[in-house]
Amino acid sequence: MGRAGARGCRGPAACPSVAPLHEGCPFAPELFARGGCGSGSPPWLSPGTAGMGGPCEYVGFATLPNQVHRKSVKKGFDFTLMVAGESGLGKSTLVNSLFLTDMYRDRKLLNAEERITQTVEITKHVVDIEEKGVKLRLTIVDTPGFGDAVNNTECWKPVADYIDQQFEQYFRDESGLNRKNIQDNRVHCCIYFISPFGHGLRPLDVEFMRALHQRVNIVPVLAKADTLTPVEVERMKNKIREEIDHYGIRIYQFPECDSDEDEEFKLQDQALKESIPFAVIGSNTVVEAKGRRVRGRLYPWGIVEGNAGLCHQCPTSPGVTGTL
Ligand code: GDP
Repeated sequence: MGRAGARGCRGPAACPSVAPLHEGCPFAPELFARGGCGSGSPPWLSPGTAGMGGPCEYVGFATLPNQVHRKSVKKGFDFTLMVAGESGLGKSTLVNSLFLTDMYRDRKLLNAEERITQTVEITKHVVDIEEKGVKLRLTIVDTPGFGDAVNNTECWKPVADYIDQQFEQYFRDESGLNRKNIQDNRVHCCIYFISPFGHGLRPLDVEFMRALHQRVNIVPVLAKADTLTPVEVERMKNKIREEIDHYGIRIYQFPECDSDEDEEFKLQDQALKESIPFAVIGSNTVVEAKGRRVRGRLYPWGIVEGNAGLCHQCPTSPGVTGTL
């Protein structure tokens, strides 16, 4: 737009002579001289014809969303997810089932003796995933050792330091000269696993979430929800919500949906908000359910189906919400 503005034309939308005839506008002959919309095209050229050498069917700022979309899809997205919570709560199982990948192939499990002396580590697993042409560079940040020691005082500190370092790094990169290929390693979301075996939050959970809620979006989840009955899940969720309020923990809040959304969507949105903290079950196998092959968890009495929140003949089914 700046180029055209400098020549006294505020773009095709403001200059009736550009579309469709490209006459009378000082910028127009330049377009024809290139024989179409090449890579050096001004920003309002139609992306449908860009780079094809064909004539531009439409020039106008209405194509800007398409250009942004095309550019983002080409570049791909970065997403960094942190999973935190004590060992054995099903973090790796859930991550693998969420992204249909095996992120923890080289994981070394420690025995009980080694765990006593283990300090909190921060490990990163990076995987490039592609779905329907959209590329995602997924980074999973794990916190092995968190909550495993006998003395867990301040074990959130290495995690907080790591998050701060990523912010600093990004700030430095953004202030640098070459900003084109910045890699965004900031932690976008932290799924915090709460043990189903306690009575609400433990002091460690409160300490962790209070230390980190200003730094990262925290999504608390009730782990291994299949070990509880529906009544217990509801009771536990209420207790956790009360404690989150009581301790002033600011967990991730879903954005309000627009008032012009349809009723069904609004109800879904409301139900989702009310199910926080999500009760989750990690799937570890591919099972056959009603003639379909789905990821799920198999029990002698039935199956929990992945992504559906459904369970056939499973006693905990109504209490299970969110992703399996
Ligand atoms: P992590 O140490 O937190 O990463 O936990 P893992 O993902 O390694 O899981 C530890 C054990 O718990 C494994 O034997 C899993 O099969 C099991 N597990 C994971 N998720 C669930 C779940 O939702 N329900 C049940 N019952 N077991 C689970």
